[in-house]
Amino acid sequence: MNKRVLVKFSGEALAGEEGYGIDTQILDYIAEEIKSLVDNGIEVGIVIGGGNIIRGVTAAADGVIKRTSADYMGMLATVINGVAMQEALEYKGLNARLQTAIKMEQIAEPFIVRKAIRHFEKNRVVIFSAGTGNPYFTTDTAATLRATEINASMLIKATKVDGVYNKDPMKYDDAVKLDTISYDKALEDHIKVMDDTAIALAKDNKLPIVVANMNEKGNLLKIINGDCSKCSIVK
Ligand code: UDP
Repeated sequence: MNKRVLVKFSGEALAGEEGYGIDTQILDYIAEEIKSLVDNGIEVGIVIGGGNIIRGVTAAADGVIKRTSADYMGMLATVINGVAMQEALEYKGLNARLQTAIKMEQIAEPFIVRKAIRHFEKNRVVIFSAGTGNPYFTTDTAATLRATEINASMLIKATKVDGVYNKDPMKYDDAVKLDTISYDKALEDHIKVMDDTAIALAKDNKLPIVVANMNEKGNLLKIINGDCSKCSIVK
């Protein structure tokens, strides 16, 4: 298995208690987790959402702002998070490069897959921001797309939960975590942790999606080393 992975964090994950904005202590925690991967010879790509700042659907809800514009606002939010993440990684002594799907070259380099791969070869973490660059998509789909483009061995979706359950663990005490789940079953059940477009794209490209608990320290490294006690694999 190649040693390249893509990790997707939601924007909300950066917000902490507030539910909004960026908590630098959380950024620092994430950077430490990423560092442990890099220190173990793993090449890491990151996609971050923007939900801690703006979500297109919500911003366009009352019709004052058009959906397409709201989505561009959402994509810009992911760039804000990306700049912050780049800083946090550098603060830990890692080399990081932010790329954007929409050109804004004073802030970051544009997304160029060959350049990203060159960065990986030089042990740099690459953060892919601005989603896919298109409205009506999510950063989950962007993460699946980028993971496929960089030929990652897996897409790790970092969440607050241990994985995918057979029923809602918040509602049912006897809910059981599934170790693996097929793409078709994930699509049929419309699993909450990943949207259908992203799952369908992963299925087409045989990209395993690992739903993982990011709050469990060391979990990302464990998963890459084959311990999935705090994860579920959609494959
Ligand atoms: N977005 C978009 N195209 C993309 C990715 C994201 O238009 O390819 C916009 C969309 O409005 C979305 C927002 O950016 O609501 C933030 O991304 P997302 O909701 O996926 O962030 P997360 O829920 O992971 O924090």
